Amino acid sequence: MEELAIPKPKYDQVLVRVKSAGVCHSDLHLWEGGYVGPGGSFMKVEDRGVKFPLTPGHEVAGTVEDIGESVIGFQKGDKVLVYPWIGEGLCPACRVGEEHLCDSPRTLGIYQNGGYSEYVLIPSYKYLIKIDGLDLESTASLACSGLTAYSAVKIAHVQAGNTMVIVGAGGLGLMAVQIAKAITNARVVIADINDNKLQEAKKLGADEAINSSSADASKTIKDITAGLGSEAVIDFVNNTKTAPTSVNMLRKRGKLVMVGLFGGSLDLNLALIPLRAYTLTGAYTGKFADLVDMVALAKMGKIRSVVSKRFKLDQANEALEELKAGKVIGRAVLNPQNE
Ligand SMILES: [Zn+2]
Ligand SMILES: [Zn+2]
Repeated sequence: MEELAIPKPKYDQVLVRVKSAGVCHSDLHLWEGGYVGPGGSFMKVEDRGVKFPLTPGHEVAGTVEDIGESVIGFQKGDKVLVYPWIGEGLCPACRVGEEHLCDSPRTLGIYQNGGYSEYVLIPSYKYLIKIDGLDLESTASLACSGLTAYSAVKIAHVQAGNTMVIVGAGGLGLMAVQIAKAITNARVVIADINDNKLQEAKKLGADEAINSSSADASKTIKDITAGLGSEAVIDFVNNTKTAPTSVNMLRKRGKLVMVGLFGGSLDLNLALIPLRAYTLTGAYTGKFADLVDMVALAKMGKIRSVVSKRFKLDQANEALEELKAGKVIGRAVLNPQNE
């Protein structure tokens, strides 16, 4: 814990008083310093542009505390959700509104100080979305886990009547089930190894559930698709175990969207990729416009995220430990204000 001067916003900048900051798995990777690469290697975040010390926290909801002199449309007290995936604005991705895939990212909580803090300085009011009428605690996680699920469902790009398999019924998978039901007419199949989580997914609208510890998941998918396979699979686990099964679930012309960051590597049957014309692609968070869409879905009551644990700022390490130990269902948040 460190005491810092409260920043004074200038020009387009906005100072947000943090109500809640979601505790995300990528905060764990930052905390541990990197990701598992192929063959048990370690990919350091510092080799990818992260500089320590850093205040983490990229899922931030709060209220506007102060504004720079050029800010329009926002005033003190407005309830806001922060879009954290900020780019430098000039690369090809930024030019088409995909700042989350910027070549020189400036993400809050990863490349610049984020929301594990009482206040956070936002570089421009353009990264804020008003969320009147929504609960700040549960809305915070839309900025990363919700947005990632939304973007993955869009990238999977299924048509009415298609089958979409969602691998992993954790926070992202459960959100993806709700989004898939809200914005597609696909048959949604959830696969996980935990029956309680599968039950939860069914409650949220999943049409079928497969326990992949007791059943051969790719065979089950073939069985329910007349032997053809699924048009799309979104793998929110994406580790050495799930990835081969996910590929095997695909129908000809099928698309696998890889999202999970558990790491490892995948052996591919190279002849099958052209023969079955598969598309294998990744999805990483999402663009600003997608977050605007998600907030609209939340306001319509079509999606809800579950906050199961609340921590104070000085319990940040405890929050990360619990997340690491798999003790958090849905989302944990840090609430930095002592109120
Ligand atoms: Zn860029
Ligand atoms: Zn995140």
